[in-house]
Amino acid sequence: MTAAGGKPCRKVRFPTLADAETALLNAKVARFLRPHRTRRHEERAYVCRECAAWHLTSQPPRNHPPSTMEEAS
Ligand SMILES: [Zn+2]
Repeated sequence: MTAAGGKPCRKVRFPTLADAETALLNAKVARFLRPHRTRRHEERAYVCRECAAWHLTSQPPRNHPPSTMEEAS
């Protein structure tokens, strides 16, 4: 089943945010229980623009303040 766009996406797809968050929670639990047994570091879920499904990513949200805000006090 391919969503709009048709570009193949090789990441794991989740149909809903709930599914993605469940997988995210499972990944975090697995990482907590066996930190040396996994290389996965998913931190959050996001909607893919290519396949319109939810994916997990280890990238932090890009809402941190711009560097111009780092004024030394
Ligand atoms: Zn995708």
